[in-house]
Amino acid sequence: STTTKEITKSKLTEILEKNRTAYTKGKVADYIPELGKMDAKAIAFSVVTEKGKVISVGDTNKKFTIQSISKLIALMVAVNEKGEKNVFDKMGYYGTDKPFNHFANLESGKPLNPLMNAGAILTTSLIEGEGEVGFQKILKMIRYITKNDLIDYSKSVYESEKETGHRNRGMFYIMKNSGLIEANDEEKLNNYFKQCSIEVTAEDLAKIGYFFAHQCTRFDGDTTYKNSEISTLVQSQMLIAGMYEYSGEYARRVGLPSKSGVGGGITVAVPNKMGIGVFNPSLDTHGNSVAGYQMILDLVNEYHLNLFE
Ligand code: GLU
Repeated sequence: STTTKEITKSKLTEILEKNRTAYTKGKVADYIPELGKMDAKAIAFSVVTEKGKVISVGDTNKKFTIQSISKLIALMVAVNEKGEKNVFDKMGYYGTDKPFNHFANLESGKPLNPLMNAGAILTTSLIEGEGEVGFQKILKMIRYITKNDLIDYSKSVYESEKETGHRNRGMFYIMKNSGLIEANDEEKLNNYFKQCSIEVTAEDLAKIGYFFAHQCTRFDGDTTYKNSEISTLVQSQMLIAGMYEYSGEYARRVGLPSKSGVGGGITVAVPNKMGIGVFNPSLDTHGNSVAGYQMILDLVNEYHLNLFE
């Protein structure tokens, strides 16, 4: 696409207001009891523009758990440490028609990709360090990308994830059984639960989107982690598997690398342009924020951001 019109705060407000009641079409996730406590009406919309300027509207200070979006950061940290080949020897580059927590072909082979739970749990287990160290590396990277040292995880969501994460525990042990996971304790799995419980705002998500859209350059121009191999890898996974089993249709409608989480956040990378972060906890049947998706779609159509347009 050609040059983008300037994004304005009033346009973002207009789009947000248009979608304020969209939450009624979905349901707040409650399979993790703590998540069920979210305010279904909380809504936020944030963009980091091409020049790194942050524009946010709605409940910009509202925190929610990052959930699946943390898988992008875990993938980055693991590939930085181990190299892409070593990570992808153990899992595929496949898309999926299966929900995020599906065992897929785990019984007979490798996880489909690093963004569904199985591959994500495996990815996190590959990050080196005893106990909580792997988690701390992910947290540190998220703090770096967002330039926000106050970011931390929610202990209550973590405990709730751990208590109810039977499927995740099942996948962890199947992968241990097949030798994909070498760790001999559940600390690696706990790191996965902890990374999902990290609390962020829509603005933080827009900064994450911007980071991957700009070859891992931070919104303020810092290039400490600049790496176009990692950003193209992460964005390609977002495009094919970032929106759960809806990813294919989403790519058809929005045409941008995106990643959602069951906390109600979605982060979008507009390659070489901007980052978008949205939040509303009411989810559709695939686990994607209904209002969040609508706001992205409206912005994409208004500013012609679809990569394939
Ligand atoms: N903690 C969630 C789980 O593993 C993350 C799922 C998600 O956001 O898709 O069940």
